[in-house]
Parts: sequence; C-alpha cells; structure tokens
Amino acid sequence: MEYSLTVYHLYPDLLNLYGDKGNIAVLEKRCLWRGVNAQVKTLCEGERPDFSGVDIVLLGGGSDREQLLVSQYRDVVAQPLKEYVESGGVTLAVCAGYQLMGNFYEANGERIACFGVLDIDTVSGEGRLIGNIAVEATLGGRSVTLAGFENHGGRTDIKTHTPLGRVRFGYGSDGSGTHEGVVYKNTVATYLHGPILPKNPELADYLIETALERKYPGAFSHGLIPLDDTMEMRAKEYLIRREMEARGL
Ligand code: GLN
Repeated sequence: MEYSLTVYHLYPDLLNLYGDKGNIAVLEKRCLWRGVNAQVKTLCEGERPDFSGVDIVLLGGGSDREQLLVSQYRDVVAQPLKEYVESGGVTLAVCAGYQLMGNFYEANGERIACFGVLDIDTVSGEGRLIGNIAVEATLGGRSVTLAGFENHGGRTDIKTHTPLGRVRFGYGSDGSGTHEGVVYKNTVATYLHGPILPKNPELADYLIETALERKYPGAFSHGLIPLDDTMEMRAKEYLIRREMEARGL
C-alpha cells in the first residue's frame, strides 16, 4: 500500500469507556477502504511514550479512578504529547481524555494535575450530566451535526479556546447547554462518547484527511475517496429526530 497512517492509542487499558475502542476500528476501516494502511500502536500503563511517526492520537474516556491512574504518567507523557499537538499532530480526546488534556481535574475536593496541553480547567459539579447530545460544528470548512452520548461529572471551562461546536440539545462542556468541546490546531477534544466516530463518519474523515494532508502534503488536496455512508447518516438522523421529539423541540 502506498499510503499509511499510524494511530497511537494512549492508555487503552485504562481509558476505555462506552466502546471508545470503536473509534479505532472506524479509523482502521475507513483508511483501509481507501487503500490507506492504518497501523495501531498502544501506550499502556508504565510504558515510555514514543510519538515518532505518529499521525493520529486517541485518548478515550474513563472513570475518576482510572483518570487518576493515567494522570500519574503526566511526567512522561505531557511534554511529548504537547510537542506533538503544537506541531499540528491530529488528536481525538474523549471525555476523561478531554479533561486530561487540560490543566487540572478537580473532584471530591481533590485536584489532579493533568497534561496541560490545552488551557482548560475541569471541576466536578453537582450531579452527572448524562444523555444524548447533538452538536453543530464546522470541520475543515464543512458544517456537520455531531451526535453522541455524554456522561460526565466534570464541568470544563474552556476559557479562550474555540469550542468544537454549538449544542443543539444536551449539556455540553460546562453543563450550560451552549457549547461543546474544543478544537485547537488539529486536536479535537469532546465529551461525546458512543463511540463518536461510528456515529459521525464526517469527523472520522476529517481526522484521516488532516493526518494524510500533514504526512503527504498535496497528495489529498482533492479530498478522500467518498464512501457510502447512507446507513450511518440515516441512523444519526433517526436518533436526532427521536431525541428532538422526546424533548418537544
Ligand atoms: N471522570 C470524568 C467525569 O466524570 C470522565 C468520565 C468519562 O470519561 N465518561 O467527569
């Protein structure tokens, strides 16, 4: 195969809630269907990170306990991850992964120092924010509606960062129901589980295309080979319609 991408899955042994692993399967398949070989490597507990040759980084969700365990690797992983993100490396960080990208996560009176890649702070609030969510976003100049499922106690203050999108229904980053996630350079951080990529092929392709453009400048300027996403889009439309009806919207 002429083209290849390396996907780096960070702490899959700890951050693996709500089928976040499905995100990896989607990246692999959507690459393969276009003749792009996707290799997946993992960074597990206690291993030394190696970001050389990495094209897409994935961080999934996890409970407070698992998040605490991952935060203990801050000294080894924060700096290379920051350098990777700053250099335009493509990253998808979900829920606990989203919070870990920030400065700190505070829960039960305890503050966990996170990776400090994004200037965002998360504090756990009264009650968990659970349910389906839809977000209006713009990815690579294209308007898309992202659908997902959120379950977080943390409320994230994104300060001066650019949100991933506007909440159509659901709680979003800080629970106010206004905005959700962060987009910074080629990093997308979000509370959307589900997992997010099977439900949102547009986001999967945005990550793949951005990573290919970065690795092979000019070779994908005409975009990716389109795939038949009829079923995926129908499923998404259905669940958004069902949720809107249930909420009387
Ligand atoms: N522990 C975090 C919270 O509850 C993240 C949970 C998750 O990844 N779903 O806010």
